[in-house]
Amino acid sequence: MKPTLFLSDLHLAPDRPAAAAAFRAFARGPAREAAAVYILGDLFDVWIGDDQLREPFARGIADDLAAVSAAGVALFVGRGNRDFLLGARFARATGATLLPDEQAVDVGGERLVVLHGDELCTGDAEYQRYRARMRAPASIRRLEAMPYWMRRLIAWSLRRKSRRANALKADAIMDVAPDAVADAFRRHGVTRMIHGHTHRPARHAVTVDGVARERIVLHDWDDRGYYVEASSAGFHVRDVTG
Ligand code: MN
Repeated sequence: MKPTLFLSDLHLAPDRPAAAAAFRAFARGPAREAAAVYILGDLFDVWIGDDQLREPFARGIADDLAAVSAAGVALFVGRGNRDFLLGARFARATGATLLPDEQAVDVGGERLVVLHGDELCTGDAEYQRYRARMRAPASIRRLEAMPYWMRRLIAWSLRRKSRRANALKADAIMDVAPDAVADAFRRHGVTRMIHGHTHRPARHAVTVDGVARERIVLHDWDDRGYYVEASSAGFHVRDVTG
């Protein structure tokens, strides 16, 4: 059985060349040997609309993904808080299927749920209000109608604001809330969940309604890349350097 790979929070950007090199090595190596690849949000450090594909950096990443799809690998991309404007043009350019906020998937006969993870951070009420406001269809339409330069400016100022706000928040508030995790397990009736977003890679054993379950938190990328490989040998963290 070919493995299924899960990764998130690559935060690819032109000013992070080592992460981009690791991505290229991943896309040309392990990704092509997989049955399926799930990128669970924040592939890009910022995505201001699919017309970002006009930028050579973004185009290069999209071309690498297209080659993964062309090799017969099922490619799935979820939206993170940084790249929630990924849309149909990006999907067409890469051959990827865009994932909804959370999705139950079948991996080697096991059903599990995958998601970016920010919706589990319900302790951060300010962020959840902001998320709901930004992702409302009307806001997205308004954003998409703006000229490219204006969206770039807005993204830059939002990032500054969020960095300042997060610096003042307690650590626990920015992590997932146990109640939200339990609800997600119940909603999907699964015993395993894989998400990113928090940049706190770990495997957590949790018991919900008397049933033992596991929550796998994906690694964010730095100068190297990380992914979780699911195969007949189980779930294992792997790393990749450019
Ligand atoms: Mn995120």
